[in-house]
Amino acid sequence: MAHKISDECIACGACAAACPVSAISEGDGKYVVDADACIDCGACEGECPTGAITE
Ligand code: SF4
Repeated sequence: MAHKISDECIACGACAAACPVSAISEGDGKYVVDADACIDCGACEGECPTGAITE
């Protein structure tokens, strides 16, 4: 299961910079995780200021 970004996302981009496999990119109004690229490392979770990233 890849990590997911909820509507709490404020599109700050902090998670994208933290992802070691560049699985996070800017989507329509929020950032999105590419489920095929995500290795479930959890590095992005702690970077999110709004707690929008969940497993
Ligand atoms: Fe990237 Fe790791 Fe977050 Fe998956 S869990 S989106 S690989 S930082």
